[in-house]
Amino acid sequence: AWQRGMDDAAEVLAGAGQITLLAHVDPDADALGSALALGIALRRRGADVEVAFASPERVPESLAPLDVLGLVVAPAAVSAAPEVLVCCDAAEPARLGSLARLLDTAGCTVMLDHHGTNPGFGEIQVLDPTAEATVVLAHRVLVAMDAPLDVDVARCLYAGLVTDTRGFRTAGPDAHRLAAVLVEAGVQPAVLARTLMDEHPFAWFSGLSAALGRAVLEPTGLVHTTIPLDDVRRYRPEEIDSVVDVLRSAQEAEVAAVLKQAGPARFVVSLRSTGAVDVSAAATALGGGGHRAAAGFTREGTEQEVLAAIRAALV
Ligand code: 5GP
Ligand code: MN
Ligand code: MN
Repeated sequence: AWQRGMDDAAEVLAGAGQITLLAHVDPDADALGSALALGIALRRRGADVEVAFASPERVPESLAPLDVLGLVVAPAAVSAAPEVLVCCDAAEPARLGSLARLLDTAGCTVMLDHHGTNPGFGEIQVLDPTAEATVVLAHRVLVAMDAPLDVDVARCLYAGLVTDTRGFRTAGPDAHRLAAVLVEAGVQPAVLARTLMDEHPFAWFSGLSAALGRAVLEPTGLVHTTIPLDDVRRYRPEEIDSVVDVLRSAQEAEVAAVLKQAGPARFVVSLRSTGAVDVSAAATALGGGGHRAAAGFTREGTEQEVLAAIRAALV
């Protein structure tokens, strides 16, 4: 079924004069990489293009170099009624934040996503849960459009591919073949991987040390820690989001959870599985979604209430 969506997506995008591309809130390299890869290619074909996400206000520092044409605009500056709206890597309309309102005003919505929990939205749906990243789908659309794969586009695609596969650990043969194509187009893997995944300000070490010092291993194999509001504000999202990857490396861990405080009694939670447990089921039960091995949700309550909800959802 996704192939039909693919041909329609290529046709609509190739014929569009104005296109607004959205990444999900707190954009990662897959969401913004997909939007920018398509945006750069469409801009170079002469279309009027803008890229946006509802929050935060600025492009995360590690992703800013991907926006070589300066396509990202502030949410307040986005066209009120885009001719074509493209939603990238958003597992549900709520993941678009306040910009989900554009679903009602756009002439046509193209949805590109790879989350198994996505209920489906938009007139044209390119939804393939077997794709390791949304950039894989963005690449297929570009191929269907016969768009050239220049180095700027290739860099955006590689950024999403290397991060969503955690450095190709979860990549299948097709994703490895795509990586080869992108490297042939001029991507420098070591340079890109360092800024995206392997680089933190030295000052972060004390924040990481505190987060790891607070980590708890429960007998069930749940490893969790909480990042208090002060630290969420003090450090970049790049640093905060990297904590769960350290937690999941605990040999005893079945599931790793990081509770990122977002208000006095509000937490944004990242869940990771080391194999056996399907964390997307737990996340969905708690109002979120994601993939088998990586999922998330946002929930009101105290730290202890959120932890109790996680324990209950994991049983
Ligand atoms: P992360 O922990 O990196 O923020 O998210 C892990 C995965 O879960 C990502 O694929 C992300 O799209 C998904 N996810 C995170 N939060 C939510 C949520 O609130 N709703 C849905 N549907 N998916 C989420
Ligand atoms: Mn994402
Ligand atoms: Mn993704």
